[in-house]
Amino acid sequence: MTKYIFVTGGVTSSLGKGIISASLAKLLQSRGYRVTIQKFDPYINIDPGTLNPYEHGECYVTEDGAETDLDLGHYERFLNTPTSKANNITTGRIYQNVINMEREGKFLGKTVQVVPHITDEIKRNFRILGESGDYDIVITELGGTVGDIESLPYIEAVRQFRWEVGSGNSLVIHLTLIPFLAAAGELKTKPTQHSVKMLLEYGIQPDILVCRTEHHLNTDIRKKIALFCNVNINAVIESIDAPSIYDVPLLMLKEQLDKTVLTKLKLPHKVEPELVNWKSFLGRLKNPTSEVRIGLVGKYVELPDAYKSIVESFIHAGATNESKVKVEYIPSEMLTPGNAVERLKGLHGVLVAPGFGERGFEGKIEAIRYVRENNIPFFGICLGMQCAVVEFGRNVLGLKNASSTEMNPETPHPVINMMEEQKKVVNKGGTMRLGAYGCELKKGSKAEKFYGKTRISERHRHRYEFNNDYLKDYENAGLLPTGFNPENNLVEIVELKNHPFFVGAQFHPELKSTVANPHPLFINFVAASMAYARKQ
Ligand code: GLN
Repeated sequence: MTKYIFVTGGVTSSLGKGIISASLAKLLQSRGYRVTIQKFDPYINIDPGTLNPYEHGECYVTEDGAETDLDLGHYERFLNTPTSKANNITTGRIYQNVINMEREGKFLGKTVQVVPHITDEIKRNFRILGESGDYDIVITELGGTVGDIESLPYIEAVRQFRWEVGSGNSLVIHLTLIPFLAAAGELKTKPTQHSVKMLLEYGIQPDILVCRTEHHLNTDIRKKIALFCNVNINAVIESIDAPSIYDVPLLMLKEQLDKTVLTKLKLPHKVEPELVNWKSFLGRLKNPTSEVRIGLVGKYVELPDAYKSIVESFIHAGATNESKVKVEYIPSEMLTPGNAVERLKGLHGVLVAPGFGERGFEGKIEAIRYVRENNIPFFGICLGMQCAVVEFGRNVLGLKNASSTEMNPETPHPVINMMEEQKKVVNKGGTMRLGAYGCELKKGSKAEKFYGKTRISERHRHRYEFNNDYLKDYENAGLLPTGFNPENNLVEIVELKNHPFFVGAQFHPELKSTVANPHPLFINFVAASMAYARKQ
């Protein structure tokens, strides 16, 4: 039978439930268990696809084309196994399902209520992945903080669920904060006590407390927390601030979180955790032999969470190359023909980020002109690739006012155009070209060399595309389309001839980079940037 672990948060938000969940999952996986993590978010959007990145950071896209919370990216990067639509559920989706059932007459004249109908639907969703038979353990992360009005139905659903599956088959891990009061020189346990009391009020006794802290918890503090929160002392887990999120699994191992969890779930400890590759990754991450400065040109750079997967992909690729990648955030709206040189000089590579809408578009074009003309490694992702096509159209092919029809519907040269199937789309949510599609790479291209094969699959999230009417012009002038979707011939990759590294990808390689499998395009981009740095 599948065992269920719930992870709740107390005291404040942003304690890193996603990283704790992913770290625990990693440890359980490393002991031979089949584990997955799902996230339940208490907001009413059906999915985060329609949210501005300023709200919740990047929108992560799964293989099956679900637009999801960025925590799913952490789950995949840690576990190296794909997630799916079933791994991210929102209040909006729960209500949508219940309301659809009401319209179908499924409730037989009953009054439809939060309890039992919404809580039943939440519980049904808790079980979906567990019932697939693919997992021994399902970790469910509940978004929000205990005490939030909107989290209440989830907490109640957890209470009922635990009663239904019986003891030993589920457990609750509560993540809390132990603040340090500098004036008193003390760590304080009271907020944790209050937060556990609140959970108790809702009928849930947490089994394990993971305590975020800036200072080590001594035995006295651990005893105090255990006593006042009704848990064993070995169930008080210290989670001290770590230099990197990738250290957290090892810190949790040291605290024996995995052992405590397995004992409470009555599962055999099996083998000792097998973390050789993880440790060697950390070794390379922490002992770089060089450093490169890469500019990330984007419109949401004030909020690095907006580019989470890109930043993590640089960490993976940096470790592979034993180089520290220093990412410098450059707001694209600030770049003009007059200041691009000043703002970009000294960088060893430039990545132009994905995005939507007009703001910052011209700045991205300027950045690309500069790196193309100066042989500085360039990597364009999605909108970044589209900008590279526009830039080349304007400045090399001489197509005056060439643009994407997203930015200028009246452009005389729509080198980037809305995809045919998108033209009839009315609704915004979940309607882009989403998820994994195959791509055939041209033999002899740089892309083929980087991937080491000709058939690849990558994830997408866009409405606009390279306009194939211009294919020959681009090819003849040296911006080579080298990756195509085999079914409909959409251009998925462009690369510039006679440039050390100039690659644009219509897909999102950053969504597939993991600790175990750093992405080849990022690895080669970082390597090219290192080569450029050495020549300076
Ligand atoms: N706005 C562009 C499109 O819809 C690019 C999207 C993106 O960068 N994810 O095609």
